[in-house]
Amino acid sequence: MSVYLDNAATTKPCEEAVAAALNAMTENFGNPSSLHRAGLNAQLIVDKARKVIADSIGAERDTIYFTSGATESNNLALRGASSAYGRKRRKIVISSVEHASVEETVADLESKGFEVVRVAPREDGRLYAADFVRECDENTCLLSMMLVNNETGYILPVKETFSFVKRKFPDIITHCDCVQGYMKLPLRVQALNADLISLSGHKIHAVKGVGVLYIKKGIRVLPIVTGGKQEKGIRSGTESVPLIAAFGAAVEKLAPTIQERYESVSRLKQYLLEKISAVDGIAVNSPDDGSPYVVNISAEGKRSEIMLHFLEQKEIYVSSGSACSKGQQSGVLGQFGIKGKRADSAVRISMTAETKADELDAFAEALHEGMEKIRG
Ligand code: PLP
Repeated sequence: MSVYLDNAATTKPCEEAVAAALNAMTENFGNPSSLHRAGLNAQLIVDKARKVIADSIGAERDTIYFTSGATESNNLALRGASSAYGRKRRKIVISSVEHASVEETVADLESKGFEVVRVAPREDGRLYAADFVRECDENTCLLSMMLVNNETGYILPVKETFSFVKRKFPDIITHCDCVQGYMKLPLRVQALNADLISLSGHKIHAVKGVGVLYIKKGIRVLPIVTGGKQEKGIRSGTESVPLIAAFGAAVEKLAPTIQERYESVSRLKQYLLEKISAVDGIAVNSPDDGSPYVVNISAEGKRSEIMLHFLEQKEIYVSSGSACSKGQQSGVLGQFGIKGKRADSAVRISMTAETKADELDAFAEALHEGMEKIRG
């Protein structure tokens, strides 16, 4: 039995997503920009997915822009909004626990003259709205915070921070990377007070290579890819109809069950924590009130990669941190106060509602064996 517990890295596409992609590659393979029937059929598929995704976050259809994934959405949000606005305002505020696609992008903007402030968690490992508000001022163009941290599952106080900041500085553009929260936690654009939101298809049982940037009406974002003016000129390039169709199909399937799945994954998290509490030398790095979909632990004295390969030999797949960094530490755990040997031995388990208790049993058993057999 192979046990896949790396769903924060990517998820298995659902049948509906695969069928929708296949249909758009076989029956409806037209180019949405073509003026004939085949083009129109492809356009209808893109329109439908746009509507389904818009509805899923309480947005209007024409605020949804398709991209190649959340990395591009984050780039478009940060580069596009700062270049539209940043001539007058030169400061960007982010959290210090963002995904590389945000952190590396603002680091690049920093090298081009923007001032970047990274707000870090306090000693208790939590971020506070007041700390963000303190850093914002009349010179700030952008505030970017993720909804759920991909390494620990920590849920950031985005709603509170954005509404605080908007009250004081209504002109600051707020961006939220919602990749690890979408289709897992309830998400409404108005309640979140976000001007820009990034989403990714492959984290929600659609396919790799498709994402969305929600852009609130009235917010100016300059394109980073120019060309044939698809997506109203914000993101040129022929739309990937199969991937967009898959994204829409996965959202259509998952949107009605967010609460139900949250409850069942919460039970799985409890079950997992009970199981591993019986294993000596395990420390839990995720907060109790984090997203249940991600559980980060440290296996005392056992380096992450070694534990990972030990588990892999038993066909149990987990991650040593964020998969994007290929086993390299991103530094984000350190920001949460998880440092040194504890960070070196971190293992991330990430589940879906389809995860089975016996898969968690197999993981806990293998972890126990690893603790006994692995040296150093
Ligand atoms: N943001 C977060 C929080 C992520 O976890 C990821 C992927 O790991 C991304 C952005 C990048 O998404 P994509 O793979 O669609 O580019």
